[in-house]
Amino acid sequence: MSKEIQAKSAAPGIAIGMVLHLRNSGEFIPTRKIAESGVQAEVERFISAMDRAKESLLGLIEKLSAKISSKDTDIYRAQVALLEDPGFVQDIKSLIAEEKVNAEVALQRVVGKYEAAFESIDNAAIRQRASDIRDVGRQVLQNLLRRQQEKLISLDEGMILAVDEFLPSDMAQIDTEKVHGILMGEGGKYTHGAILAKSLGIPCLVGLESNLRKVPEGTEVILDGDAGRLIVDPEEEELQLFGEKLKESSEAEKRTWEVRLSPSETLDGERIRLYANLEGLRDLESVDEGLFEGVGLFRTEFVFMERLMFPSEEEQLILYKTVLERMGGRRVTFRTLDIGGDKPLSYFRTPKERNPVLGWRGVRITLQWQDLLYTQMKALVRASVAGKVSILLPMVTTIEEIRKGRRILNEIIKELRDKGEEVGKDIRFGAMIEVPGLAMILPAVLNEVDFISIGTNDLVQYLLAVDRDNQRVSSLYDPFHPGVLNFLAQIAKSAREAGKSCAICGEVAGDSQLVPLLLGMGFRSFSMTPVFLPRIKLAARSVLLKDCEELYEDVRHLSTAEEVFEAVRDWGKGKGNGKGNGKGNSKKEGDEDLTASEQRSKTNGK
Ligand code: PEP
Ligand code: MG
Repeated sequence: MSKEIQAKSAAPGIAIGMVLHLRNSGEFIPTRKIAESGVQAEVERFISAMDRAKESLLGLIEKLSAKISSKDTDIYRAQVALLEDPGFVQDIKSLIAEEKVNAEVALQRVVGKYEAAFESIDNAAIRQRASDIRDVGRQVLQNLLRRQQEKLISLDEGMILAVDEFLPSDMAQIDTEKVHGILMGEGGKYTHGAILAKSLGIPCLVGLESNLRKVPEGTEVILDGDAGRLIVDPEEEELQLFGEKLKESSEAEKRTWEVRLSPSETLDGERIRLYANLEGLRDLESVDEGLFEGVGLFRTEFVFMERLMFPSEEEQLILYKTVLERMGGRRVTFRTLDIGGDKPLSYFRTPKERNPVLGWRGVRITLQWQDLLYTQMKALVRASVAGKVSILLPMVTTIEEIRKGRRILNEIIKELRDKGEEVGKDIRFGAMIEVPGLAMILPAVLNEVDFISIGTNDLVQYLLAVDRDNQRVSSLYDPFHPGVLNFLAQIAKSAREAGKSCAICGEVAGDSQLVPLLLGMGFRSFSMTPVFLPRIKLAARSVLLKDCEELYEDVRHLSTAEEVFEAVRDWGKGKGNGKGNGKGNSKKEGDEDLTASEQRSKTNGK
């Protein structure tokens, strides 16, 4: 029987293959005493190992620069800078000279000292420096030991690398075309190794911890970077299901050019608006801007999370302006800080809570610490001269919160205008619909805002009272639950009646199987992780809106998620392709692109 291990997804996508452990921990370090007369030669041996490490880093920058953004190759430039850091180099030279130890030992000790100093600081960005210094140390050590880093190209295509910590220099060892996935025991999604994997389009899971060692070399696995899990020793049925899902996404990828040039509309010409969800400027480097018409969700908290302290108004202004300029006139929806819950800020400690996702998070924090909201909104309003800005409040529960947010925004606009400063003419203000109680008073909400955006990730977990990260109950997290679908349909109806724009920006917007149903309910705007854009555009382009409406009419009275799922799948096989002959993309959609919960329910034989 297969076994499922939950992990964090650092790069989306599916990979199927054999596990290959990249290295075993523990490296033999020779220890020697150096005679006084040998110190100079030992220092020179160290310097030339440093030079070789630097050369290979520069080689890596060259190797990868055609494949990843210059922002990402900066990871290697920072490592070169470390090798050139006079303090670091001098510390090692001094140890060799004073303690008469060989270069390997001196290097290990100094690297260890720096590492410990960085590790002791409770901040993700600083801890990342510890990993960089470890990586640099490892490269110099390899050169000192004259150990040739073996290139793994002779190995079969389709391997899935497993390693406690995937370090940037590991890229020198691998043929990026042949590695189909990366599994990391440690680290979060913002470690440099994970960022590079994402840039190269290699699905990656992090945080597997000791589970990683329980998967022996050669084990067959399915890496599901979309749902954040690893399936060990998959069953035939699972292999088939994921194999088809994989085929579909590479098909969509292959057809990206065709997709990017064609209009985003259904077969009967209904325009479908596609937007991207971004977490920082870095994301903009790797997205195909031809595939979306704006940014539907800029999660500003991720920029804050990568820093050591709150960015000033000026720093935020520069960031927001840069995003707007890069988007060249397309609208960008900036969500105000959504910290708390699963997104802590190391420099803004929140008290330990029994139920963090029901606790102090999002706008509940920023309306209490209004300086935060005020500074961020002011930077956004000032940035609005550079493009179309929408401001979105997260985790809204009450009308009063919306009114307070609007009041602050209006005050800022007035204050700036009074000072004679220019302010964009079309700033829009909206609320996220994540809390079910707020959705129940939607007509009142819609009176207060210019637009709403549905955060289905939170909304589904609150509607079904399921913590997705809790393995014991996560199979209950199912957007196909008829209660969820009815709820969404009601939101679409209210927004349409009020004539207000309503997008979906949670993960369901990137689920090509759910999209026909959502279209049938009346949704026309979808904002998603950029990797899903081509397949959603293909999905929309292969259906007739009137068929989607019929589909929704057919399923709206069903009472189980399984029944809805089956109905959607059968519809996909039959008439949903707009030709009524059972061929075309929507058939594939029905069979292959299952949401995490469908895959779960299918593979669990539910
Ligand atoms: C959501 O809840 O669906 C959403 C988009 O917000 P986040 O995933 O950032 O919590
Ligand atoms: Mg949310």
